[in-house]
Amino acid sequence: MKEKLFKAEGLVLRTRVLGEADRLITLLTREEGKFEAVARGARRVKSKLAAGVDLFTHGRYTFHRGKTWPIITGQDTIERFNWFRENPDLYAYGLYFSELTDRLISGEEPCPEIFDHLLEAWSLFGEDVDRFLLSRSFELKLAHAAGYSPHLVSCINCGEHHVTAFSPRQGGMLCSRCRTADAINIDRGTLALIRRLVEAPLSQVGLLRPLSNQKKELATVSAGFLTYYLDLGEIKSRLFLKDS
Ligand SMILES: [Zn+2]
Repeated sequence: MKEKLFKAEGLVLRTRVLGEADRLITLLTREEGKFEAVARGARRVKSKLAAGVDLFTHGRYTFHRGKTWPIITGQDTIERFNWFRENPDLYAYGLYFSELTDRLISGEEPCPEIFDHLLEAWSLFGEDVDRFLLSRSFELKLAHAAGYSPHLVSCINCGEHHVTAFSPRQGGMLCSRCRTADAINIDRGTLALIRRLVEAPLSQVGLLRPLSNQKKELATVSAGFLTYYLDLGEIKSRLFLKDS
């Protein structure tokens, strides 16, 4: 039987109104994966918990297992990523990263790799970072960590190494013989860029200098992959991003 009380280090992905004065918080935790928890009284003016369960907060939380949701009984803030609150453009990125994480992770398993990527991304938004490349790199890393990387090294259909186009529906590259109607032509440079974005740490995306056609192709591949292969449909918060 699981312990009644437990602790976890968490990132606040989402917060919703619950009842008169409570909040229902979606947390991505390092130890327990993603889950929802109740922050009792967090909407009261004098609540000590309110700031600690705000969006884009990194903290240590203590929970009591409730009947429906765990209840937050204690909280220590490690960092509040205030730039998201102070800058509407960054806020849009913050929402997008949270929504994407929330939708790609089922929540049943701990996923420390994704936890670390999101925490690093939140931190990098406080620097003069290339938001377009950071976003694409985050999308690819998240998909990779969740076990759904695009197949880039050879034709996804026949294994041929000379590949020329990407199929968003099949989630990988195709050779000229296997090419399907949805496939998009991809330059070799773009392919190399995508590989770098999957492999390099998020903090190094600023060192990459893609050409404008490569950025365009990258945006198309990434949006198509998320929409069709990962079946995420329209990600509402993506529509509000200025640079992508
Ligand atoms: Zn083929």
